[in-house]
Amino acid sequence: MKCLTCERHSLEFVLFDDGLKLQACSHCGGMWLSSNDFLAWRRSHAPDGQVIESDISLDTTLAITDSTNLKRCLDCGHLMFRFDVLPHGRYKIDHCGHCNGIWLDGNEWHWLRAHNVHQRPGELFTAVWQSHIREVRQHDWFDQLYTQRFGSDYEKIKAMRDWITNHDKRAMIVAFLTARDPFGLD
Ligand SMILES: [Zn+2]
Ligand SMILES: [Zn+2]
Repeated sequence: MKCLTCERHSLEFVLFDDGLKLQACSHCGGMWLSSNDFLAWRRSHAPDGQVIESDISLDTTLAITDSTNLKRCLDCGHLMFRFDVLPHGRYKIDHCGHCNGIWLDGNEWHWLRAHNVHQRPGELFTAVWQSHIREVRQHDWFDQLYTQRFGSDYEKIKAMRDWITNHDKRAMIVAFLTARDPFGLD
């Protein structure tokens, strides 16, 4: 089978130290994880540790290629879809929704490992995880906007908001702060 990233070289079976079997391109590092092989490996490797969502620096000798070409699943031939898999991640992963096969471009496997998501890639393509990514990104977008608008007051405003939000007299405090004249009868 031909590599889906460079589309030139043939894939070869590789067996990792921890028993994971996959097919890889020795030219560009592209990797094919068939669903069956992956599930067999995962059965003997219970997930441990939390997913690290923030971007972390990786060994710079591992240049990651992130291809954009359309790919067909190596096992079933269906068109694969590209997914963001981490809120702050820069790379997309190709996934076959029909048989759950996964294509990784060169060194993306190391990137997934570094973020502790390699043991449960099945979750990455679910609606729940994808909507989580959108929420985190939306939160970050607003956070940047408020940072620009409020400048150095932003941290103080956030602390004030937390204090009011968690106060048992929240409604009265908001009314007091927003009334034109809280000491007038109007
Ligand atoms: Zn290749
Ligand atoms: Zn497939």
